[in-house]
Parts: sequence; C-alpha cells; structure tokens
Amino acid sequence: MSLAFESVELPAAAIELRHKVRAFLAEQRAAGAYVPRCSGWTIFDRAFTRACGQAGFIGLSWPRRWGGQERSTLERYVVVEELLAAGAPVGAHWIADRQSGPQILRHGSVALQEAVLPGIARGELTCAIGMSEPGSGSDLASVRSRGDRVDGGWKLNGRKIWTTGGHLADYMIGLFRTDPPDTSKRHAGLTQFAIDLNAPGVTRRAIRNISGREDFSEITFDDVFVPDTHVLGEPGDGWRLVTGELAYERSGPERFLSVFPLLVECLQAKPRSDSPAALAEIGRAVAHLAALRRMAISVAAKLDAGQDPATEAALMKDLGNALEREIPERLRGIALQSHETPEAAVFRALLADTVVDATSYTLRGGTPEVLRGMIARGLGLR
Ligand SMILES: Cc1cc2nc3c(=O)[nH]c(=O)nc-3n(C[C@H](O)[C@H](O)[C@H](O)COP(=O)(O)OP(=O)(O)OC[C@H]3O[C@@H](n4cnc5c(N)ncnc54)[C@H](O)[C@@H]3O)c2cc1C
Repeated sequence: MSLAFESVELPAAAIELRHKVRAFLAEQRAAGAYVPRCSGWTIFDRAFTRACGQAGFIGLSWPRRWGGQERSTLERYVVVEELLAAGAPVGAHWIADRQSGPQILRHGSVALQEAVLPGIARGELTCAIGMSEPGSGSDLASVRSRGDRVDGGWKLNGRKIWTTGGHLADYMIGLFRTDPPDTSKRHAGLTQFAIDLNAPGVTRRAIRNISGREDFSEITFDDVFVPDTHVLGEPGDGWRLVTGELAYERSGPERFLSVFPLLVECLQAKPRSDSPAALAEIGRAVAHLAALRRMAISVAAKLDAGQDPATEAALMKDLGNALEREIPERLRGIALQSHETPEAAVFRALLADTVVDATSYTLRGGTPEVLRGMIARGLGLR
C-alpha cells in the first residue's frame, strides 16, 4: 500500500465561499466579537458559534433536511481553513461539525438525527468526544466505562477524562463497554452512545490546564439512562465506528493552522528586515504550511470521493503536530529581535501563551508514537 496525495484545485464555488467567510470574519472582528488566538478551535464561545450557524458555516455538507446545504467537502474545507487561519473562537461547534454530526449522520437513528443535527447546524447544540478514560488513552480498546441493557435502552456507568469542552457541551458521543472484555477479541463488545450531558446521573468537573484555562473536563456517569434510539450503529460495533470517527478528527487542517495566527502577528510586528535569520525562519514556516495545505486539500478531496484516507490523515496529523510545536519555538528568536512597538507586544503576548499551550498539542487526538504505528501498519510495514 502507498500513500497518495494528489494535487487538487479548489472548485469555483469554494473560492466564492472563501470571500463570504472573510467578509463575515472582518465584520465580527470589527464588532469586537473576538481577538485572534492560536488553537481557536478549542475556544468555546457560544455567541460566536451561533453567529457562524446563522451565517451558514456549520454542517455545510449535510442534507438540507437537517439544516445543511449539501455542499462538497472541499467547500467545507475552505470555511474551516478561513476560520482557523483567523484564530476565531470556534470551539463550541468544532467537534460537532467535524465529527459528531457526521458520525450521527452515518450511524445514528432518524430520531437522533432529528433531535441533534438541526441544532448543531444552527450553532445552538454543542458536542464533546468521550473516548479517553483514566488509564485508557492510546489504548482505547481498554475502556472500562460500561453500558448495561435495561428496558428501552441502556444504563451507563464509568468515567471519561480530558473531554474537551465536556463541562460546557450539550451532547457527548461516548465509547462504552457493553460486553465483558475478551482478551482474544480486544476490539469486540464496545458501543458508541450519543449522551445528553444534562441527563440525571452525569457529573462534570472542569480541569484547569497549564495555561490556567479550563478547556477540558472529567465526566462521571452514575446509572445514566440512554434510550435505544441514541445507540450509534449496532451494539458491539463501537470499535469500527470510533476508528472511523478518529479519521475525521485527524484529517483536517487544524493541526498545522493552530499557530497560523502567531505567524500573522509576527509579521505585523515587522521583524527587522536586516535579519536574514528571521526572514529564513518565516520563509521556512510558510513553505511547510504551504506543503501541508496541499496535502490537507488532497485529503478533503478523497473524503469527497467517498474514500477512507485514514493513513493519510494520520500522516497529516503527525506532520501538522510537528510543525505546530516547531513554529512557536522558532519564532522565539524573532521575538527577541523585534522592535518595542505595540504590534511586537501583541506578538510576544500571543507567543508566551502559545509556547505554554503547545506542550499539549501532540497529545490531543493521538500521540506521535501511536500515529506512526498506524502509518506503518497502513503502509504494510508492521
Ligand atoms: C488538550 C487535550 C485535549 C484532549 N481532548 C480529548 C477529548 O476531547 N476527548 C477524549 O476522549 N480525549 C481527549 N484527550 C486525551 C488524549 O486523546 C489522550 O491524552 C491521548 O490519546 C494519550 O492518552 P494518555 O494521556 O492516556 O497517554 P498514554 O496512552 O498513557 O500514553 C503515554 C505515553 O506512552 C506512549 N504510548 C502509548 N502507547 C504506545 C504504543 N502502543 N507504542 C508506543 N508508544 C506508546 C504515548 O505515545 C505517550 O507518549 C485530550 C488530551 C489533551 C492533552
């Protein structure tokens, strides 16, 4: 097996949409709705998400029946790219638009689709990812949170951790063990549920990260009832579903664009033009970003064509993670060389925040070691 990243031109409709998103962002910025930040896709802002929903930027490729616009994955790609590059606070709808909505569209009952998808598209209903548990991160098949059959549905018990936005979200797609563990079939007996996080028995606790923000949380489930209509796919088939969901999580441009706002602020700060080293750093970062962008567009085109680019997505995430860790480190030298101007102060403040935050970048969505194992398997090397 080989990796294929074909060169893809964006269609005219996508380019048209890009202008619309830029106009929306300029308007929002002028109205003081946000200040650009790195990793804007983890910043939870319901008001901004509602504005995105009203502008038609959520659930773009979904059926009209559920509030979508039946646009292509490449058109969605352009919207995503613009929102990320602007450092806009899109965290309240990011997970729902990127993976929970598509997962419900593919594997959910009509009742669940009706209950959740139009709300997501309007920017009113938000979702979280319930995979990791204490002791189960990379080795997701070892999850111990349990789902037991009861009349009309299931009772959930257990604990999820590091759930981004989980203390603020409305729904979670969670992976639970619904059959006893079988060491000969580690991936069997798991099921995904769409869980109302306001249901009785759900307790949520925000966790403060190294930057002092409360972006993720710990969630416990004590006899939480979930109706049969909220099971995704067939009970016991959760592993196949969760790996499909992870491909959506990893295939987008968020990794390499996380720190794009920092690069923009660096240029606004006008690093000394007599410093060839500074210019070389900026040129290097831009060249890497351009290459990763071509790869991301190619992955979006594969998704559009109904293919499964899981290995390409893992490679994209690994390379994107490396670059999002590298850019803040390399721009530190430029920060020291830039003049004392208000623009330079903005750049330095954003840099300080990003350097601390970047320590977690390679963990969220799967670590480099795990991704490289997947890439090797995808290439038939292991
Ligand atoms: C900012 C942030 C947001 C997150 N958001 C979410 C979320 O919304 N929902 C969610 O479910 N989870 C979330 N996570 C959790 C994240 O997915 C896990 O942290 C990650 O999968 C690693 O799991 P772990 O922390 O248990 O580490 P472990 O799996 O214990 O890994 C520890 C170390 O061992 C290495 N390792 C493990 N297994 C192997 C192997 N087979 N081969 C080689 N090396 C290996 C890892 O690479 C790592 O370096 C988030 C994490 C962070 C930091």
